[in-house]
Amino acid sequence: MRTTAARGIPVIQGTVLRFERFAIHNGPGIRTTVFLKGCPLRCAWCHSPESQQLEPEFMPQPERCIECRACTGACPHHAVVPAATADSVAPEVCTVCGECVAACPTGARELVGEVFTVPQLMARIERDRIFYDESNGGVTFSGGEPLMQPAFLHEMVIRCRMSAIHVAVDTCGHADASALLDVAPDTDLFLFDLKVMDEERHRALTGASNVRILQNLERLAAEHPNVLVRFPLIPGVNDDDRNVHAMGAFLASLRLTRVDVLPYHRAGIAKHDRLQRAYPLPDTQPPSADQVTRVVRLLESCGLIVRRGGAS
Ligand code: SF4
Ligand code: SF4
Repeated sequence: MRTTAARGIPVIQGTVLRFERFAIHNGPGIRTTVFLKGCPLRCAWCHSPESQQLEPEFMPQPERCIECRACTGACPHHAVVPAATADSVAPEVCTVCGECVAACPTGARELVGEVFTVPQLMARIERDRIFYDESNGGVTFSGGEPLMQPAFLHEMVIRCRMSAIHVAVDTCGHADASALLDVAPDTDLFLFDLKVMDEERHRALTGASNVRILQNLERLAAEHPNVLVRFPLIPGVNDDDRNVHAMGAFLASLRLTRVDVLPYHRAGIAKHDRLQRAYPLPDTQPPSADQVTRVVRLLESCGLIVRRGGAS
């Protein structure tokens, strides 16, 4: 847990990757989606690799660098070499103060991740309250994985409940059960991502077992009235009949009736490039309408209500 002290009293802080205002695909109505940093999974198709690390990090655009050295001169710790690459900063010295980013005239240096206290984040969320009230919307905490910052998330959902703001939590389910159940009483809607049913395939594709994920979904389905499962459809990766049918049967056994199918897109490729990381699925293409329809029909045959796209 990240904390700082004010008059000797610990203050909970969280790291936010970014905000999406006026979002309409992450729960009902018009919403602010707060993407928290940190994720325990490393999905091969990740479209948000800059969310994986818990701490703020650099996301450079080397093609914009004009080698002016403004960043080098601005750094109070002599931690940066004049180049916009992911390894242009000495991490053992850098305090992530952002001075080099502010000094860069071309936008070649970007720092992703900003630290907020609970009151600071509530103030940001409250800015769009009129839209939530008019549309029966609210706030969605997403990631990364928002439960990677459990104390901060817990405090935020309590504050939102006290302020009568509808809360959705978008989770991959790979979290401590206690952390998940702690936020459940003050969460109106869970968006629960389910990807692969076979444990070894799940481990190969995401870097982690799915045992805890399936157990958490089972527990949540028993204890929370509003759980919507989301299935990211990755052609050639998890859209085979066996996986889709196993998922449908599992959800039906839990009496979870609603599933959103989220078709794969290639937005993560450019971000991997900027972070100088290899993209594991360079040849994978978005599914055709027919491919999506086949998966939808298969899930419907398990008795589920299936939609294409995000929650509303
Ligand atoms: S973030 Fe601050 S400490 Fe880190 S390299 Fe930039 S100026 Fe230096
Ligand atoms: S300030 Fe920006 S443009 Fe200038 S050397 Fe540093 S990264 Fe490159």
